Parts: sequence; C-alpha cells; structure tokens
Amino acid sequence: MQIVIVDSSRVVLQIIASLIEPRGHDVHAFTDSAQALDFLAATPAVRVLITSLEVRPLCGLELCWSARLLVEGRGPLHVITMSSARNVRSLAEALDSGADDFIEKPPSAEELNARLRAAERLITMQEELIRLAETDPLTGSYNRRAFFNRARKAAEQSRRSGGVSAILLDIDHFKRINDEHGHDVGDVAIKAVADLISGAGIAGRLGGEEFAVILPGCGLSLALARAESLRVGVQALHILGSKGPIRLTCSFGVSSWVDGDSVEALIKRADVALYAAKSGGRNQVVPYQGHDGVAVAS
Ligand code: GH3
Ligand code: MG
Ligand code: MG
Repeated sequence: MQIVIVDSSRVVLQIIASLIEPRGHDVHAFTDSAQALDFLAATPAVRVLITSLEVRPLCGLELCWSARLLVEGRGPLHVITMSSARNVRSLAEALDSGADDFIEKPPSAEELNARLRAAERLITMQEELIRLAETDPLTGSYNRRAFFNRARKAAEQSRRSGGVSAILLDIDHFKRINDEHGHDVGDVAIKAVADLISGAGIAGRLGGEEFAVILPGCGLSLALARAESLRVGVQALHILGSKGPIRLTCSFGVSSWVDGDSVEALIKRADVALYAAKSGGRNQVVPYQGHDGVAVAS
C-alpha cells in the first residue's frame, strides 16, 4: 500500500518507515504536515495516512479532517493518529476529527503491522463496495449516478481548457435483436458496445442500451470525429446471434459545452441530437443544433 507518514522528527519517521517498509509498503515520509497534505492531494493512490498529533503547520487533528475532506468521493483513506500522550481525550478528539485508529508513539513493529493488516482488509472491502456502487454489473461501465459525478468533476476541470463535449448513443432497433436472438445475445451486444466506448472518454451506461461519453478537452468538431469513429467501430463489431451474425448499429447525438452550462444540460442537448439521429434514419452522428440551426459549441 502507499502510506504517508507525518512526524516532526526525522528519526521517528525513519524508525516507522523501517518497521513497515519490509512488509512491501511504499512509504512517503514528511516532517511538514502541509506538504504531506499537498502530496495526498496529488497522489490519489495513497491509502493510509499515519500522523502524529504533534505536527506543524497543521496540527495532527487539522491534518486528519483536511485529508478527509480532500479524499471525499475519491476512494478510501485509512487515517491512523499517533501520540506519546495517550489519554481518552486525545483519542476521542482524533476519532472525531476523522481518524480511524489511534496508536501510541513509538509503536511496536508487531502492533503497527497488525493495525496495517486490519486497515488493508477494510480498504479492500471499501474499494469493492465503491466498485459495486458505481458500476453496472453487466458491462462494468459507470452507472448513471457515478457517470454524472465523474462527468461533473471532469467538466469542472477542463471546461476552460479546450472545452468539454458529450456523446450520447443508443443501439438501433435493439428490441429486434432481443426478439430474434434472445436476451443473452442482447446482453453480449450491450457489453460489446460498452467495451468499445470505454476507451473513448468517461463512459457510462445511462439506461438499457443507451450510453454516454464525456470527452474532456474536446470541442465539437473533435467530438463529432470521435463519435463517427465509434459509429464505424460499432458497425464493424462481429457478434454471432442464434441465427447468424447480428447487424449492430448505434445512433449518436453530440453536444459541446456553452457558457453557464451544466453536465445535465449538456447531456440533454446530446439527447435532442440523438433523437434527431434516430428520426433521420439511425446509424448516424448528429450534432446538437441551436435555435438558428447552427451547431452550438463553446
Ligand atoms: P431504437 O432504435 O428507437 O432505439 O429502438 P430500440 O428497439 O433499440 O429501443 P426500445 O427502447 O424500443 O427498446 C430497447 C430494448 O432494450 C427494450 C428492453 O427490453 C431492452 N433492454 C433494456 N435493458 C436490457 C438489458 O440489460 N439486456 C437486454 N438484453 N435487453 C435490454
Ligand atoms: Mg435503442
Ligand atoms: Mg434506448
């Protein structure tokens, strides 16, 4: 596991690192708690923070709750606080500030590693729960809620640098595939489309056979080109049905970020364009048209 340890003494840091590094952990040691927090912000793979309560410039309790806020919605972080003054009050304060555990300083190798093993079990369980809560079991794509959460974050980060676009796609005449070849073959087709679009951007399954892809840093013309290559890719998929190969196509609606936009409105406009692609004959890519009939993009 990636572990951050924070203590004002380099000697203590070295001792703790020497206790846990032989167990295969990757240790990042800091005497400065603000630097440790910056490192946590830049390194989402960190799973454990071990901090003394007596650190600066942020005290251990401040570091605890700042780290908790930082990782909210990002993944599990197990926080262990350490103090040479073990008393009920500091234990309670640490737990109330977002710590998961409390150990006396200096810890023994046996205790510290046992607590890290317990932490690892909890982290694995939390990661699995997050995966189950965020993904659709058939395709492994983000479900609607997780997709919108990720899309909002990505839009926030990239709307000023190159724009954000959305592609909404829906399998054409999918009901016929189910009717002619059975539900299982329909599932295979849904999975094949999900796999194909998964590398294109932030992809989610919004409904039965409807998907969305957010393309951070992409303006409308690039998004249209990406959608067209997905369209060609879907058409080229080889899926064998009960009565021979299936002809699989999708229709695509594409929209781009405009000033004052939201992810919900962006997807809504892509949906309007998707509807136009369906009524225009399916198996085609259509950009969202503004009121004047011109494709709207930032
Ligand atoms: P259109 O081209 O207008 O999109 O027509 P369509 O037949 O694809 O659309 P419609 O909405 O009429 O039918 C979608 C079908 O998708 C209906 C539903 O039974 C099926 N479906 C939804 N979820 C699943 C799934 O997880 N697996 C399978 N096999 N079918 C599903
Ligand atoms: Mg459909
Ligand atoms: Mg549909």
